Parts: sequence; structure tokens; C-alpha cells
Amino acid sequence: MAAVTTLVRELGAAIGARYVRAPSAEELEDGTRWTGLRGSADALIAPPDAETVAQAVRWCYEHDVPITVRGGGTGLSGGAVPDGGVVLSMERLNQVRSLEPEWWRCEVEAGVTTHQLQRRVREVGLSYPPDPGAGATSHIGGNLATNAGGPHAFGHGQTRAWVLGVEAVLAPGELVRIGGPTRKDVAGYDLTSLLVGSEGTLGVITAAWLRLVPPATAEQTVLGLFPGIRSAQEGIQGAFTCGAVPVALELLDGGTLQDAGATLPIEGAAIEWQSLPDPTSAVLLVANIEGDLVEATAARGDALIDAWQEAGAAWTAAPSAAAASTLGEWRAGVSGAVAARRGGKLSEDVAVPTDRVADLLAGSAAVARRHGLEHAAWGHAGDGNIHCTFLLDPSDPVRRDRADQAAEELFSLAISLGGTVSGEHGLGRLKTGHLGEQWGEAAVAAHRAIKEALDPKGLFGPGRKTD
Ligand SMILES: Cc1cc2nc3c(=O)[nH]c(=O)nc-3n(C[C@H](O)[C@H](O)[C@H](O)COP(=O)(O)OP(=O)(O)OC[C@H]3O[C@@H](n4cnc5c(N)ncnc54)[C@H](O)[C@@H]3O)c2cc1C
Repeated sequence: MAAVTTLVRELGAAIGARYVRAPSAEELEDGTRWTGLRGSADALIAPPDAETVAQAVRWCYEHDVPITVRGGGTGLSGGAVPDGGVVLSMERLNQVRSLEPEWWRCEVEAGVTTHQLQRRVREVGLSYPPDPGAGATSHIGGNLATNAGGPHAFGHGQTRAWVLGVEAVLAPGELVRIGGPTRKDVAGYDLTSLLVGSEGTLGVITAAWLRLVPPATAEQTVLGLFPGIRSAQEGIQGAFTCGAVPVALELLDGGTLQDAGATLPIEGAAIEWQSLPDPTSAVLLVANIEGDLVEATAARGDALIDAWQEAGAAWTAAPSAAAASTLGEWRAGVSGAVAARRGGKLSEDVAVPTDRVADLLAGSAAVARRHGLEHAAWGHAGDGNIHCTFLLDPSDPVRRDRADQAAEELFSLAISLGGTVSGEHGLGRLKTGHLGEQWGEAAVAAHRAIKEALDPKGLFGPGRKTD
């Protein structure tokens, strides 16, 4: 591998010196930095446009240089952490190329942040619903590359549901456009879906055409506090069957409430939770219902309250829109509140069929007990996608090791329940190697064949998203 200065100089000569430099320490890590994962790279390229991305990929492909694509660096599986070669940063591809409210669509470059796009879209009276939790920093390209979810993925779908087409650079440096403003296109294999969720291992997404919708005009937020995980499982089913059709259905278990419950911003809720016979077994479900008519939406909320009361919810409430917004902010902070208990945590993103959420919660807590670790779980119950979490002190290597072992058992548990090791963060560098456990041999071989066909030299994100 060429020395830093050589690669920076050679790449600079090939694509423009002002677009190539040495990476900073922050550009060698991502949202997994607390695990100690640090990468290395000989150069960082930040091209100003898609054509220069193609030029850079062509040069790297000719010279056998590995490429790690970098969006906002918020990923939680180490996918943007390089292992040699170059970091290809999308930071300069930050233009909204077109925004057509009259046709509910836009074309945006990969480096536009999720919140920037949402703001622009709101200004023209529309909505882009995907809401992964780090939207201030994450890029649209990163959202596509991880097929990001978030609370509203339950009703609105993951990022893929909003993608009409992509512009991408494929090996050995070809700029392609697949799909576009057309709302339906089944002419070829679904290459758009192949690139969405490919975590930078099949090519570089440089832009995307996205679908937009008018926002809901009425909203209702309903909370149900269940005395245990089995009654909460009934509550999850009730949300599917009672006719309320929530767009988000979030879950927070007793371990999470232990750290975040005291600040629950709904009048009386903190007291109610702490007065349960066994607060550690409690489960809080929060549902967000959207609609066009205030009365009809409120009626749907009432239907959900009835269903949850029948399932044994000890307490329910349907607060105002302002209270719902405060509740959303509180929900976003629970991960930090739980981590603060011991200074750190290993939080996973397994997903199981929605009828197995209680089994996942029980099994994950049992894994934690076996390893002498404290446990908390929260997440997207409507998608069966739960952040099962083992608490640890990052400076204690013994607990760190135990948490790693616990996570391995958690993955096996999720698979045994018919689920997946990753519902939204992807395999990246940290979880790669688990596909064989989850899929049959022939399916893994097909996965490998796709990689070999699109990236024959194996230079895009080497070692990531493999079997
Ligand atoms: C506080 C917090 C909350 C989060 N909440 C959620 C959540 O609710 N739901 C969820 O799904 N995720 C969540 N995440 C994870 C993360 O934010 C998302 O996965 C996000 O989509 C990553 O986008 P990014 O731009 O930061 O990508 P990066 O971290 O830069 O990269 C992620 C992966 O995508 C690849 N990549 C990035 N850009 C491109 C591109 N243009 N072309 C090809 N490949 C590319 C990278 O190589 C890497 O493999 C959260 C993260 C944090 C820190």
C-alpha cells in the first residue's frame, strides 16, 4: 500500500488536489466509536460532483485501492470505518437538485442531511417521513445505503419505500442512473433495491429520486403502561387488530424506565410507573396515530386505549400535540439515559416477528443474567425491532467481553425466534459473518455471487456485509 503522501499526491494529480487530503481522526470512526473501533486510511477524497466520484472510483479500481464510502458517519455497525485504502466522503454532494411539490417528488444528492431534506420539504408543504434517530448528521446517501428505519418505519416503511431511483457509481467507475422521476418501473431487475441497504459494498450512491407525501393533518399519541411483557405482547397485537392503524409503535421496558422513567414528561406517568407492583417488569408502549380528520383520528386513539385496557394496561393517556412532541424528545434521549447508568452499553438492533417480541425480551434479559450484566430494551415494537442492551463500564474489559458474548447469544436467540441479527443498522464491520447463521447456504451463495458480479475486485467496503 502506498504511503499517505504518495496516495494523496497521486490521487490529487488524477482527480484534483483540492479534493484529496489526509483523513482526520473523526473521519476514521463512526457511531461505534465508544466500542474503541478505529479505522485507518491513506487518503480521503471529497469529490464535488458525481462525475468526479466516478473518476475517483475508476482510479482506485485501476490501482487496487479499497474504498470506504462515508456519509454522515452516524452508522452503528462500523460500516464507514475504513480498513486501509481511501475514505470516499460524500460531504460535498449536498445539493437538492430538484424539488417538485406539485408532483410530490425530489432529486437530492447523497450528502444532503436527513433533516436538511425534511426542512426543505416541509417548507413546500410536504413530508418525507423516514425518521432515523441521527437525522441532524446522517446523510440521505447513508440512509439509503443502510435502508434506515426509525419509529415511523412501522407505518411509513423503511427508507427503501421512498426511493424512486438512484444515481450511483459502479465498478470500475461507471456513473449509472436506475429509475428516476417515474413512480413505477419494473422493466429490469430491481437494482435500486439492491443498492439500497448495500452498505457501500456494491457501489457509491451519488443521488436519489425520492417520493414525498402531504403531511397528516391530525395526530394522536397514546400511551399504555403494561404490568409485564406478556400483557405488553397482547397490547402490541391489539395495536394491529383494533383498527387504530398506528404509524409508530414504540416500546420501553422496565430496565429502560429505571433510568428514563423519572423524567417521563406526561403528568402523573412517572408516579404511576413507580407504583406498579413490579416496576422492573413494566413495559410502556407509545403509539402515534396519524389521520386527516381530527375527530376520526381521536376515535382511532380511543379504540387503541380500549384495546390496551383490555390487555391489562394499568394506565393510558392521550396527550396534546405539544405533549406528544415533548414525549418524542424524551424518547430520543432514553438511549443516553440508559448508557449513563454504567457509563456505557452494548445496544443491538435485532428484529423478530412481531408476535415474538415478549419472547425476545424474556430471552435477552435471561442472557444478561447469565453473564452477570444489567439489561434494558427499547425500540420499534411495531416492527419487532428491539434495541436489546447490555450495560457496561467501558473501562472494564471483563464486562466488555461478557457483553460481546451476550450479544452473540442474543443474535442466536433472534434467529431462533425467526428473526434477524440486524433490523436497521446493518452488518457493517461489527456484525459481519452472521448471515450464514440466518440464511441457508444457497441464499448466502447468491448473496456472494451478487457481490462478485458488481465488485469483482472486492474493493468496496472490504470485509463488510459478508457471510
Ligand atoms: C443517535 C443515533 C440514533 C440512530 N437511530 C437510528 C434509527 O432510528 N434507525 C436507523 O435505521 N438507524 C439509526 N441510527 C443509525 C444511523 O444513523 C443510520 O444508519 C444512518 O442511516 C447512517 O447514515 P450516515 O450518513 O451517517 O452513514 P454512515 O455512517 O456514514 O455510513 C453507513 C454505511 O453506509 C455506507 N454509505 C454511506 N453513504 C453512502 C453512499 N452515498 N453510497 C454508498 N454507501 C454509503 C457506508 O459505507 C457505511 O457502510 C442511529 C444512529 C445514531 C448515532
